[in-house]
Amino acid sequence: MKRYASLSGWMKNRYGCRVFKVSLSAATTCPNLDGTLARGGCSFCNDASYAPNSTRNRVFKPIPVQLEEGIEYIRKRHRTSKFISYFQSFTSTYGAMETLLPKFMESLEHPDVVGFALSTRPDCIDEKWARTLSELAPGKLCWIEMGLQTSSDQTLSRINRWHTRWQFGEALQKWRDNCDIPVCAHVVLGLPGETRQHILETAKYLATQPIEGVKIHNLHVVKGTMLAKTWQEGDYTPLTLEEFVSQTVDFLEFMPPHILIHRLNAHAPRALTLAPEWSVNKLSIFNAVENELKRRDSWQGKALGFNALDA
Ligand code: SF4
Repeated sequence: MKRYASLSGWMKNRYGCRVFKVSLSAATTCPNLDGTLARGGCSFCNDASYAPNSTRNRVFKPIPVQLEEGIEYIRKRHRTSKFISYFQSFTSTYGAMETLLPKFMESLEHPDVVGFALSTRPDCIDEKWARTLSELAPGKLCWIEMGLQTSSDQTLSRINRWHTRWQFGEALQKWRDNCDIPVCAHVVLGLPGETRQHILETAKYLATQPIEGVKIHNLHVVKGTMLAKTWQEGDYTPLTLEEFVSQTVDFLEFMPPHILIHRLNAHAPRALTLAPEWSVNKLSIFNAVENELKRRDSWQGKALGFNALDA
């Protein structure tokens, strides 16, 4: 029985094989780091922790070279023939459009690349980006990943996001008014001061928004972040695996089934991870969520009254 609508399953149906994201860097930065909004960034952010080991050495290489190296790395480990160019590091739409668009276009020239995904903040996309991207590559898949993290303004302030829930909603609405490129909202479970109630509020809020995907991350403490200092001083305690799994399933129960689940966890390289220990084992987190769904006999959207998903 299929208990949630995964992006990977959707891709497999559409392309007939697994589709892997290849992390690329457009050499952008972020307004929350360069002083435009703030310096220091979100309290949990260390960009090195997002990039797979394989990516770090190639960030300043030309896009076709980054792409070839990334594809080769993935092909050595997985039998697959299709890829998505994934501009994940920092804020990928933060910069001059004339500089960034050629990089996005270059990433689509590879015959095995079926589309691209851009990771960004709600204050770094606008109507012009929406209209331009919608005309950029007809026939290719395109996703925008927009960071929300939580629907609580209090927590957003506490983690130094420098945007509010209202700004997220407004950016989303403008995006929808100007293009039909799907949006994946990024949320984090286990943020400082948050309880199960906050998670449910975030899920209920997103269920009402014009989004097509959600990416769920567990908060992990990585070196070189403000959160690391807070954790070392004893002022932050990460979720246990059991708490994270339980909250993830709670969250899924409030997601309408048309919203694709892009991911169910995050992990950083072991060398950068301070806590929790369980966060470095991606497969065990994934299995624990699947097991909890089965144990509860639950599925995506159950709390909203949706029936179980079709297999
Ligand atoms: S918006 Fe993204 S890149 Fe910028 S500081 Fe926050 S997590 Fe890091």
